[in-house]
Amino acid sequence: GGKPVVKIGRVAGQFAKPRSSDFEEQNGIKLPSYRGDIINGFDFDEISRIPNPSRMIDAYNQSAATLNLLRAFSRGGLADLHEIQKWNVGFIAKTDLDKKYHDLCENLSQTLKFMEACGINSKNTQAINETILYTSHEALLLPYEEALTRVDSLTGEIYDCSAHMLWIGERTRGIDDAHVHFLSGVKNPIGVKIGPDGSSDDILKLSDILNPQNEAGKFNIIIRMGSDKINDRLPKIFKNIAKEKRNIIFSIDPMHGNTVKTTNNYKTREFDKILSEVKSFFEIAKSEGINPGGIHLEMTGQDVTECTGGIFKLTQDELASRYETQCDPRLNANQALELAFLIADELKS
Ligand code: PEP
Repeated sequence: GGKPVVKIGRVAGQFAKPRSSDFEEQNGIKLPSYRGDIINGFDFDEISRIPNPSRMIDAYNQSAATLNLLRAFSRGGLADLHEIQKWNVGFIAKTDLDKKYHDLCENLSQTLKFMEACGINSKNTQAINETILYTSHEALLLPYEEALTRVDSLTGEIYDCSAHMLWIGERTRGIDDAHVHFLSGVKNPIGVKIGPDGSSDDILKLSDILNPQNEAGKFNIIIRMGSDKINDRLPKIFKNIAKEKRNIIFSIDPMHGNTVKTTNNYKTREFDKILSEVKSFFEIAKSEGINPGGIHLEMTGQDVTECTGGIFKLTQDELASRYETQCDPRLNANQALELAFLIADELKS
């Protein structure tokens, strides 16, 4: 798409899950819902579902180890653009996607050769062989977030050090809710999810509380309305906000408003609906004079079968073969790459 990208992963801390229901029922047995590994266990038995505070220590240690690994990968040569031919190739063989990916790699390799001939190479220009990856998660479990909040000794500012960016979910974003109050006290960049019932008034009030100084880059609104509702609800919101002089980054999460349960009981998302919500977001932003500032996805580099559709037209019946998520269905490597190309086309158009 030719735009600079800030890469922020839902990783190294994304352990707590908001649940719509307090209980889960299987074969007539009712147990407390699984709330993420930082709180209780996934196995469907009474003991696993008891909240255990020592899980917070495990989550912290796992996050620290993950962050170490991410730093090693992003700075240790794996992100070198010269290696782009080796990224992902395992999954994309024999499709249009494969050709698109290899054409992109070829163009990039030619550009790198040209730059090298001009004296710009990975030895003298870090940006070619390294990348910066930031982390983020929903700041849902306040005792954990509070325990990791520190005063920066240089600036005296307060930061929640459990991630670079924290967000507030759709279910806990009420302006009088504890989560909004807590994050109003930290200097980190903050996100808030806005579902189909959100309004411009909600967003402006949240921006007053969470970004009182109207700093650029601090406040991110993550729209997640669902492909069937976004066209009806978002234009009015953007129209009202465009009139205000607010620094708000608007991004789109096309995952959480498009989750469905199949008849064979799998939680899934349809690729076409995900794409459709992204497209609507771009179109509405363009027509209302708002900058479409980001995309928020749940994805994996692995070849799982959790979302239906995409270039391989994955069906509901095929979900069972490699359905590995314990919570939300993720795009697999091919679906994520396909979406990336389609978004790039959208940006160029
Ligand atoms: C999430 O991003 O994991 C999530 C649950 O989002 P939302 O609050 O938008 O449902």
